Amino acid sequence: MNDRMNHECVRCRKIITPVGRYTAGYNTCITCGDAISQSTTRCVVPMHKSNYTLVTRKSDLIGINTKGGK
Ligand SMILES: [Zn+2]
Repeated sequence: MNDRMNHECVRCRKIITPVGRYTAGYNTCITCGDAISQSTTRCVVPMHKSNYTLVTRKSDLIGINTKGGK
């Protein structure tokens, strides 16, 4: 394997460092990753039937809550 392979940030095209960041699943550099994480609302919602569901849109969260009653 070529462990010197460079991976570009999908946002700013800079090389992602450290490489471990890319192999951990990130496709952005640290700077862009921070910016994205701050602009994206994420929370984990416990569901009745399934495992924890990652919700990235507020509308999804509202849809879930309608079953809870008032
Ligand atoms: Zn970047």
